[in-house]
Parts: sequence; structure tokens; C-alpha cells
Amino acid sequence: MRFETRAIHEGQKPDPVTGSVITPVYQTSTFEQDAIGVHRGYEYSRTGNPTRAALEEAVASLEGGEYGLAFASGQAATTAVLSLLKTGDHVVAGDDLYGGTWRLFERVFKKWGLETSYADVDDANAFEKAIRPNTKLIWVESPTNPLLKIVDIENLSTVASKNQLLLVVDNTFASPYFQRPLELGADIVVHSTTKYLGGHSDIIGGALVTSRKRVHEVLKYYQNAAGSVPGPWDSWLVLRGVKTLAIRMREHEKNATFLAEFLEVHPKVSKVYYPGLPSSEYHLLARKQMSGFSGMISIELAGGLPGVERFVSRLEVFTLAESLGGVESLVCHPARMTHSSIGERERRRRGISDNLVRLSVGIENKEDLREDLERALGEV
Ligand SMILES: *Cc1c(COP(=O)(O)O)cnc(C)c1O
Repeated sequence: MRFETRAIHEGQKPDPVTGSVITPVYQTSTFEQDAIGVHRGYEYSRTGNPTRAALEEAVASLEGGEYGLAFASGQAATTAVLSLLKTGDHVVAGDDLYGGTWRLFERVFKKWGLETSYADVDDANAFEKAIRPNTKLIWVESPTNPLLKIVDIENLSTVASKNQLLLVVDNTFASPYFQRPLELGADIVVHSTTKYLGGHSDIIGGALVTSRKRVHEVLKYYQNAAGSVPGPWDSWLVLRGVKTLAIRMREHEKNATFLAEFLEVHPKVSKVYYPGLPSSEYHLLARKQMSGFSGMISIELAGGLPGVERFVSRLEVFTLAESLGGVESLVCHPARMTHSSIGERERRRRGISDNLVRLSVGIENKEDLREDLERALGEV
């Protein structure tokens, strides 16, 4: 079956007990056992819950993977992956990363003795050069946050398998509709389901998908042992979002392409970061490994911080808020919002200037979005 059909049906058969067409919210902490140690597949909702299981099966299918696991947040999913490692291990991570992922590496796991170095995602050899005898894992996002760089996943998977490392790809920005890292050779896919998979800005959640049985077993053990699982209600909301992922992603992309073309020639905009633009240095690679360019655009405004402040305050349809991937358009200032935790010097080094503004393009009417940007740019 094809993507759109799997999004609606995979893991979501009518309820075997009542025939309910929609997977019920199994709002229960525990399950009756027929005799001591004899149960019907579920014992306790931290270990497993049918609503969560439906979500896990659906997301695994969309990523083209064997096994899915749902978590209470994207960060909980990331923490689960890092639990595969031990003190003294080393990670090579791409140098353009979600600020919270960087914070986990540097402020949480470093003191447990996990070392991380950061490779320039624009340099094909940087990852290989950063590998040490104790390296266990490569971690990248593509497209990256917030500069929307594209990383060659197939290339990295060759480096990873040659050196017997796990390749982990955070696929949050592309969603499985536009990119399936496992098919490009990645070992584990990470999602913040808070974003496009949920799609409606109403829950916090995360997911992991892998086709490696042993890796899945360790992650599943961790999921139950550490317990950062989503509740049935949140799982249900993500599952509901997933059903419309394909049509939402097509609209996000259509609107983003339209706005990126408008912004590219606007005199108040000094740079547009969008891999869908033919002028983007990442365009050809994006075409190769993705089937579309998603709905995230970053721009640099002429006019410095005061210009940025005027711009965001004049927007009416775009809402100033962190997060992305919902049906509504959002605007954020990475330097002082999503990426403030990485510090000014490190931000400068990575090219996250105070002029940078990130847009999560929603699925409103594209002319309303263009008019909103045009009006606000007039004030920059
Ligand atoms: C939001 C986000 C995360 C973190 O997910 P939460 O659900 O907020 O914990 C991780 N990676 C990327 C790329 C994100 O955008």
C-alpha cells in the first residue's frame, strides 16, 4: 500500500472488541490478567498501551521501518537513543542542530562521560575525520535547524557502516512524507512528533523508528525502564494528525515555495534559506534524497535586531512562537528563542546571526501569508 493509505490504515484496524472504526483512546493504566502472568498482550500502560501501539505501528510504516516507539517528547526519544551508549563513548554530531539536542549532549550527557564533537555538515570529509576509536554513533538532522542545510545521508551511511557506527537522523523537518532516512541507509530515525507528524500544535511527543531488531529491543527495554512514554490521549492526537500528513505536507510545501520565491527578490531580505529554491546550494542534494522541500524557511533581514523586532511585531497571521510544523504559520527568532541555549559565540560560529528569522509556513491561504510578510517587511 502507498503512503497516504498507510497513514490512515496502518496499525489502525477497527477495534476488535466493538468494531469502532477509529482506534479508541485506551485511557487506562493497567489491564486485567486472565490468570497470574496470563494476559491479552497488555499488562501496564508504561510497558504498552493499545493506542500508543497503533501510533508506533503507523509511524514505523511511514518511515519504511520495522519497529516504532513513541515517547513523551522528541527530547525523550533522543535520550532513549543516547541510552544505547555508555561512559567513555563518543558521538560525532552535525554542527547545525536543534538547540535542545545540543543542550542534552553538552549539559546533560557530558557529565556522564559521553563525549560529542561537532562536524561541519558542509564538509563531506568532516565526519570521517572526527571519528575516534571510541566513536559509536553519528547524529545528524536534515534539513538542519535553523539554517536548513541538507546533509548527504547516503554518504554518511557509508561512513557509518564502514566504521561500524550507528547513523541516527532526526527527520523532524522533512517528515516521512518527504524523506525516509532508513531507505538511505540510516539506522535510527528520530522525530519530534510535536511538529509535522502531530501537525496541530496541540501535543508534545517523540518517536523512534529502526529496522534493526537488536537496537529496537534495547530501545524498547529503555522505554519501559525509564518510562518517558506518551499518554493514550496524546498518542491518539498524533495518530489523528498522521492521517492527514500527506495532504498537509503538500500544502506546507506549496505555500513555502511560493513565499520563498517572493522573499528571495524582496529588497529587505538579504538571504533566504530554503532548499527548494534552485539558487540554494543544497537544491540538488535535496532533490536527490527528498521528494519535496517541506515548509520551513529561514531568512536574514536587512536592518539588524531593531528591524527584526519591528518585523515580528507587525506580523498578524504569523504568530511569534517557538515550535513548527503545525497548520498555522509561526515565526521565531532562533538567536533568542530556540537556539538561545547554545550561547552567542557558538551561534556566531554556526552562522546563526541576530538577523536570522525562522518561518514555519502553515497551510493558510498563501496570498494572506504573502500579504502579511509584505506588510511587516515594509516596517523593517
Ligand atoms: C522540536 C525538535 C526537537 C525536540 O522535540 P520536543 O518534542 O520539543 O522534545 C528535536 N529535534 C528537532 C529538529 C526539533 O525541531
